[in-house]
Amino acid sequence: MVQMIPPISQPMAGGSTSPIMLATWSFGVAGCTDAWPALTAGGSALDAVCAAARRAELDPTVNSVGYGGLPDATGRMSLDACVMTGPANCGAVCAVAHHLHVADLARMVMERTSHVMLAGNGADAFADALGVAKSQLLSADAKDAWRRWCTGEPPLPSVDAGGDPREHQIPHDTIGVLAIDSQRHMAGACSTSGLPFKLAGRVGDSPIPGHGLYVDPAGGGAVATGNGELIMGVSGSFLAVECMRRGATPGEAVEEVLHRIDHAFHPRAHQQVAIIALAPDGRWAAGALRYGFVVAVADAAGIRTELPQCVLHPQKESLE
Ligand code: ASP
Repeated sequence: MVQMIPPISQPMAGGSTSPIMLATWSFGVAGCTDAWPALTAGGSALDAVCAAARRAELDPTVNSVGYGGLPDATGRMSLDACVMTGPANCGAVCAVAHHLHVADLARMVMERTSHVMLAGNGADAFADALGVAKSQLLSADAKDAWRRWCTGEPPLPSVDAGGDPREHQIPHDTIGVLAIDSQRHMAGACSTSGLPFKLAGRVGDSPIPGHGLYVDPAGGGAVATGNGELIMGVSGSFLAVECMRRGATPGEAVEEVLHRIDHAFHPRAHQQVAIIALAPDGRWAAGALRYGFVVAVADAAGIRTELPQCVLHPQKESLE
């Protein structure tokens, strides 16, 4: 499937020149809706992906991003994020404990420092130094869910009502966004509170360039969501973009990532990974290990959700 590497500046053929936005999960629709008017009025892809991330970070009903996200095993919240427009233009923060808009903070790391990633206290201190207001990240509902989890009760009753085994009800729904603007520039962002009830100190794929997010104008962009450990094992987003840079279609790139994860990890039924790949010309594809994932799409045809084109294990149970 992987073909000869084209010269790095070679544009891909076909596709559309009008703006497009893609985001993970159904709550990505709200972010696309917020960002789309400015993007279609000539705004930048970077502004659009950060605006979409902010929307999920603010939404208390999204329990794996920003305020309302579920804490770690000790009851503490930590947020991770990454933004990227190319291999030399990337910023990230991880284990942020006191600031909500971590995608914006990652952008500040990218634009105002010579570094790529700031972690923990250093990331919070960086935000303080820039005058970013502190936020309470742990919502009352998330704290209650954590208390239930500590006592062995189902943390999220609504999912439990479906009768799934308890381990199946743990959500993992990073907001990952990719956009192309009218100047044909691409940007990506992702923002997450990470896996719920994770070990304190655990950092997943989302803030790490090449794992949860990768953008290379020579190949395209990719964002991943799901069990970060599986994504990190194959450098999932980098792999998807590199496949496209070597000539694969977005669909082939997504399938390659999912097959590599499947081969390496033999994922268990409750483990989900989903990935979206966007070529520089606007062609895109999404795929997932199993049912439950949807992609939010904003393009000339409107703003909507679509099912992934590829589900590797359609016969296994859904996560939703
Ligand atoms: N990939 C994220 C992580 O492992 C979780 C998610 O997608 O919700 O931290």
